[in-house]
Amino acid sequence: MFYDWTLILILPGLIFGLIAQARVKSAFNHASRVFSHRGYTADDIARRLLQRHGAPNVAVTATKGMLSDHYSPSQKTLALSENVYGQSSLAAIGVAAHEAGHAIQDAEGYSFLRFRTAIVPVVSIGSNLSPIIFMLGLILSMDPLVNVGIILFALTVVFSLITLPVEFNASKRAKKLLLADGYLDSQEIKYVDKVLDAAALTYVASLVSAVLQLLRLILISNSRRRNN
Ligand SMILES: [Zn+2]
Repeated sequence: MFYDWTLILILPGLIFGLIAQARVKSAFNHASRVFSHRGYTADDIARRLLQRHGAPNVAVTATKGMLSDHYSPSQKTLALSENVYGQSSLAAIGVAAHEAGHAIQDAEGYSFLRFRTAIVPVVSIGSNLSPIIFMLGLILSMDPLVNVGIILFALTVVFSLITLPVEFNASKRAKKLLLADGYLDSQEIKYVDKVLDAAALTYVASLVSAVLQLLRLILISNSRRRNN
């Protein structure tokens, strides 16, 4: 995009993101080799949690890919990846329970999840248009256009920020319910803890990265203004 000193601002976010992803993979692989004493599979536990905690209409399905697990509020489905669906490792159970946590948040009308779901369309349009509008503003030397580009990108920062309570809360629910409903004991939950904590770090990395990118856009626009 722009090759100036502000490019350095992208680096910490990038490195943080890579470290966080590596930690998720290593925690997941580690906990994939330890199996639950009670022998339930992750999808089975997810179904039982949904049934018992207010989201009985959510379907649990299998999906392709590695760590592609997600809950879709619009389709009311909980998709579990190959290493999770049908598996009884502590890693699989932790991820499935986390996703069930999102479905339960949705059923309860948890405010941060509702807000995040509501702004998704605006954020996705905004993040696609932001670089185009920002660049156009610079090329045409039109400050209002540059500002619109920055504001659109700021939506991404808001989204990353709102994602944090949603993710932390889903993990907290997962651990609490796995213990309370007796699927895991206090030793087993430690493995789940590590996987979910590592996953939470990737969302922190996304926020740091988005904030630094926003700062970069602001710095570029200010230096242009000074030069004009
Ligand atoms: Zn999540």
